[in-house]
Amino acid sequence: MTDMLLTEDELLLRNTVRDFADKVLAPRASHHDQSGEFPWENVRGLGDLGLYGLTVDERYGGSGGTMAQLAIAAEEVARGCAATSTIWLAHHSLGTKFIERFGSEAQKHKYVPPLARAEKVAAFGLTEPGAGSDAAGIQTLAVRSDGRYLINGAKTFITNAAEAEVFVVMATLDPAKRAKGICAFVVPRGAPGLTVRPLHGKLGIRASSTAELTFEDTPVSAEDRIGAEGEGFRAVMQLLDASRIGIGSQAVGIAQMALESAVSYVKKRQAFGKRLAEMEGIQFQLADLATQVDAARLLVRRSALLCDAGRPFVPEAAMAKLYASRTAVQAADRALQLHGGSGYFAPATPERLYRDAKVTEIYEGTSEVQRLIIARHLLE
Ligand SMILES: Cc1cc2nc3c(=O)[nH]c(=O)nc-3n(C[C@H](O)[C@H](O)[C@H](O)COP(=O)(O)OP(=O)(O)OC[C@H]3O[C@@H](n4cnc5c(N)ncnc54)[C@H](O)[C@@H]3O)c2cc1C
Repeated sequence: MTDMLLTEDELLLRNTVRDFADKVLAPRASHHDQSGEFPWENVRGLGDLGLYGLTVDERYGGSGGTMAQLAIAAEEVARGCAATSTIWLAHHSLGTKFIERFGSEAQKHKYVPPLARAEKVAAFGLTEPGAGSDAAGIQTLAVRSDGRYLINGAKTFITNAAEAEVFVVMATLDPAKRAKGICAFVVPRGAPGLTVRPLHGKLGIRASSTAELTFEDTPVSAEDRIGAEGEGFRAVMQLLDASRIGIGSQAVGIAQMALESAVSYVKKRQAFGKRLAEMEGIQFQLADLATQVDAARLLVRRSALLCDAGRPFVPEAAMAKLYASRTAVQAADRALQLHGGSGYFAPATPERLYRDAKVTEIYEGTSEVQRLIIARHLLE
């Protein structure tokens, strides 16, 4: 981002997170990718920087702040380590923010402070084996029983589930009611009948954990239902509208790192008696890429500023995620191509980014879902 487009506070935040990403996240990113080890020290480091509490109200242990600040921080974290940004954003923008935005005062005071201080990890369970993009089609059932609910069903692809102590889970009172039947619940780790089964073999963001959840007569008290019965789906849609800004930023961070690694490589690599950087065909590729990354960053910033101003931002956030995620995939592809064979082998940065980038086109609404959102606003 051109520095003059940032406020002094934003510049300070960007420089602080960038410094942490350069010194701590980036040097270990390859190790975490290859070992698949959950990077606890990164989680604690982001917690110490206050990022887990960013945009969270100070009354609930957060540090306040804006979506524009969150977007800046998310880009820098993802530039250093995409997997770490996934862990943080799933915890923050899905788990923590769901409770903070839609929970009762008692729920916010009970659950949010340890999440905002990175003392506990949160996971968010919406997707099921039979319902992803069509989220209103979830089948996990919540049945009222003796003043509480019994939950039965399965969730899949749930980020942070292996480490989470707090799960925000969507279940339906009646699948036939689709969106209108859905309720949100907080389920603690260790709840009876809750099983977490880690999933292995992810293409990228390997240091973030992903798991299946199964619920067998899992009891949840009525005090742990978030919002009224049947209001869960609307809350999820509002949550995802905003969380897409973070995923757009994550994609910009991956694209930025791809661009930097390409620039650095072509300055050193010699072919046909000169450096690759001296060849016009290569310069044009880098120029196009830099333009695309900046355009993605500006789309993300626009949506964050609209959100902070309390203005409508839904199609703008969808455009930002759609464009930034495509940019991340293309930038990683280009960086790998410019590295030739040496970019194809781990631990080369482009090899990892090539695998990490793809998920940004899939989670928190696939690119097709973003297009549906944009088209709906165009045609309404
Ligand atoms: C690494 C990872 C982490 C994840 N973390 C979480 C998490 O923490 N919590 C959670 O709840 N979920 C999580 N997800 C799930 C993710 O949000 C879903 O995978 C995503 O929403 C897509 O759903 P699906 O996989 O069921 O694909 P489907 O919905 O089955 O889609 C398959 C294909 O069909 C396309 N498609 C579907 N409907 C339409 C349509 N109407 N028009 C055009 N095309 C369409 C899709 O775009 C896609 O290309 C995660 C996924 C991954 C890969």
